[in-house]
Amino acid sequence: MEQKQFKAESKRLLDMMIHSIYTHKEIFLRELISNASDAIDKLYFRSLTDDSVNMKRSDFAIDIIADEEERTLTIRDNGIGMTKEELEQHLGTIAESGSLQFKSENKMEDDHQIIGQFGVGFYSAFMVASRVTVKSRAFGADKAYVWQSEGTDGYTIDECDKETVGTEIILDILPDNEENEDEKYSDFLSQYRIQSLIKRYSDYIRFPIRMDMKKSRKKEDSDEYEEYIENVTMNSMVPIWRKNKNELKDEDYNTFYKDKFNDYTDPLHHSHVHNEGTITYDALLYIPSRAPYNYYSKEYEKGLQLYANGVLIMERCEDLLPDYFSFVKGLVDSEDVSLNISREMLQHDAQMRAISKSVERTIKNELSRMLKNDRENYEKFFEAFGLQLKYGIYSDYGMHKDILQDLLLFKSSNEKKYTTLAEYVDRMPEGQDCIYYASGESIARIESLPQTEAVKEKGYEILYFTDSVDEFAIKMLMKYKEKDFKSVSANDLNLETEEEKTKREEQETESKDMLETMKNALDGKVASVKLSSRLKTHPVCLSTEGDLSMEMAKTLNAMPGGGQQIQAQTVLELNPTHPIYETLKGLNGTDDEKLKKYSQLLYNQALLIEGMPIEDPVAFSNLICELM
Ligand code: ADP
Repeated sequence: MEQKQFKAESKRLLDMMIHSIYTHKEIFLRELISNASDAIDKLYFRSLTDDSVNMKRSDFAIDIIADEEERTLTIRDNGIGMTKEELEQHLGTIAESGSLQFKSENKMEDDHQIIGQFGVGFYSAFMVASRVTVKSRAFGADKAYVWQSEGTDGYTIDECDKETVGTEIILDILPDNEENEDEKYSDFLSQYRIQSLIKRYSDYIRFPIRMDMKKSRKKEDSDEYEEYIENVTMNSMVPIWRKNKNELKDEDYNTFYKDKFNDYTDPLHHSHVHNEGTITYDALLYIPSRAPYNYYSKEYEKGLQLYANGVLIMERCEDLLPDYFSFVKGLVDSEDVSLNISREMLQHDAQMRAISKSVERTIKNELSRMLKNDRENYEKFFEAFGLQLKYGIYSDYGMHKDILQDLLLFKSSNEKKYTTLAEYVDRMPEGQDCIYYASGESIARIESLPQTEAVKEKGYEILYFTDSVDEFAIKMLMKYKEKDFKSVSANDLNLETEEEKTKREEQETESKDMLETMKNALDGKVASVKLSSRLKTHPVCLSTEGDLSMEMAKTLNAMPGGGQQIQAQTVLELNPTHPIYETLKGLNGTDDEKLKKYSQLLYNQALLIEGMPIEDPVAFSNLICELM
């Protein structure tokens, strides 16, 4: 008999599992029953389209057999079973399960924490068993196999006898720890303990979970009692989404979520939908409290589980969720979905389209309600998934902006707190006619931008755009409640009074020469050099003409495969109230060389303030020394 080794990752998890603290151990039963139920789901689904299965729904069941004398606990299902290869693949490795990956990325200090909270699956059996034996016969296979392991040493696979299709998992329950009251593994052989664990964790399983229970009754015509055995179905079999909302507590929803969707934290929000009318369906929709580690990557797969009248027909149905709500987890169960619908047909199915529209509306309404009534949680949600909403606005040429724009939050100069666009507009003072925003890497960066000074001085609030998608999304919105969006860096802010404007224009005419010399000194890097009345303390700043801002150009140029670099139309603005202005004027016509050098210095300074790279740091540094 050949002894095979577990893959490295599995070994680590097994180690953790075996040494996990006792209080978490009871979840092994939930995990094994959940696997059994999944296997039955698969075979039952198949029976609907494949006559060779020859089983009715009522034939399917999970049996639990507790043998106190032998100290074994058996979990038996008549589901799809596993082939030899599947035993090898599924029970020899857990590399796919993602839990360890999560662990290493988050450096969780406490191993036990994962065990208790993750769906750790099959391996949890080793928390209570010294040996695990899996006998399985796959549907359609003519041989059965037995997989056996005593833990980290590895496992064996051999042929075995098994008449019926399905899987039987036999646990040799660990001996009790005499020194520790808490480690009484015999508990897991007690019928009452098992029954209560099933009620607690597996009640919603949609196939019967049965166990022979010893009971006693009074003999007829006598005072004596006799023992008898009754095969009892221990779960109610009503899936949680079919239950009445007022029978369910938050905890029920949360436990179900963690179990089904492999998250170890409670979701931020759940909504339970019973929809009747043109389309009838039940749905459970959850908003996770944090983004999965691969959320903003290509690997992440969106989708809801799809059930047709209680039968799982698709683990992840993408068509039920628009991309901008891809963070939602949950399921939809409908009588109106045809059982043998194929993936391709789903997209064209009118019922499915109606359901997905309705699901989308529900999510939108739930989020709006949360924003209104539970701001704290909404902000948490937004921290995790707000980026996705912004991408949603930007994608498909702004097609979804009406759905999404009121769900956006931005930090703003108003106490640096989150604000919605509607709140911003409500706060706009008389005289302000656009929505101002400023872009930068961070709030601190933005607040130090000279361009914000004039806007703030007017008493106008500024939205802080710190995600690179922000400006792109806003360009798609174009307006919000008839108000234009305007970057504080735009060349045409129009904030000056008539008086200021006249004065600036006079000064500009007077310094026409000098500004021209300065522009030429910058050798095509700026479209023009102008005087500005927006600057208060800073000598210079950059502004942009046209639609493309410097931040946007920076983002576009950072994209892979961008090829040619894109330039924003920049304008160097000069503060005529700053002492440097007089200095420059003095140089004009007397020392044009120096004026040119000063121009370069000022331009680079403006770039630095803007958070943009300077083209030639060495030349810049040499220039500083030279002028010093
Ligand atoms: P998960 O259930 O999260 O995929 P597990 O470690 O619990 O992870 O199980 C690994 C795989 O082994 C399952 O995905 C399934 O393919 C297979 N498996 C486990 N138990 C059974 C069973 N009772 N019947 C059929 N296949 C099973």
